[in-house]
Amino acid sequence: MFAPVDDLSGCRILLSNDDGINAPGLAVLEQIARSLSDDVWVVAPAHEQSGAGHSLTLHNPLRPTHLGEKRYMVDGTPTDCVLVACQHIMVDEPPDLVLSGINMGANLGEDVHYSGTVAAALEATLQNIPAIALSQLMGKVPQWGTAEHYGPDLIRSICKVGWSRNTLININFPELPVSGVKGVKMARQGRHKIGDDVVLREDPRGKPYIWIGAAVTSESNDEGTDINATATGYVSVTPLCVDLTDRDTISALKKVLE
Ligand code: MN
Repeated sequence: MFAPVDDLSGCRILLSNDDGINAPGLAVLEQIARSLSDDVWVVAPAHEQSGAGHSLTLHNPLRPTHLGEKRYMVDGTPTDCVLVACQHIMVDEPPDLVLSGINMGANLGEDVHYSGTVAAALEATLQNIPAIALSQLMGKVPQWGTAEHYGPDLIRSICKVGWSRNTLININFPELPVSGVKGVKMARQGRHKIGDDVVLREDPRGKPYIWIGAAVTSESNDEGTDINATATGYVSVTPLCVDLTDRDTISALKKVLE
């Protein structure tokens, strides 16, 4: 278990994201983190890394750029950032908590497999540091106020309980102003599919190219899922396991294969 923490004010908090060091959601997360602790560090990608998943940079050098006190950017993926932070920049005194986000857009259902935001939290969990990924569903007008309002108390409450070392916490804020939010719901992953919207076009020189669109196809919107919770006005909180093993299938195949 990650030990419960009653008071975050003495905690060393590392922030990262996948939207990049200049993303508005990172500024919102910084504000939230500073309301929790004075010891806030930022190590974030130099460029947008949405969709980078849990990828590692293995074929290029990583050079952190020091931007200011406790503030760095790395020309790499969110996973690179957490690794560089924990194993290099902050190696003498690693973070007690890693917060990733606030992503500009949902990380619901199987988005979590593509998400660099979730991957940064996953990497921290693999480094044995408790981590929370935060995402704000996006409409025409960003509702950062909702994340700002709910974020600090949610993080405090979750940390007071502690959670398994096999687990990261994934939070999604609905696309609503604070006044429209009904509350918080614990939720399991729903199912929807991104990547069906593959568009073939022609560049100005007449050569074809393919661009993966943003359309999402909902497959399951049952009550109890993160997709349903956020669609019906709730902040969703989903604990995600590092261990993806399907134990039922182990039992079923064991009879045949062993
Ligand atoms: Mn993103």
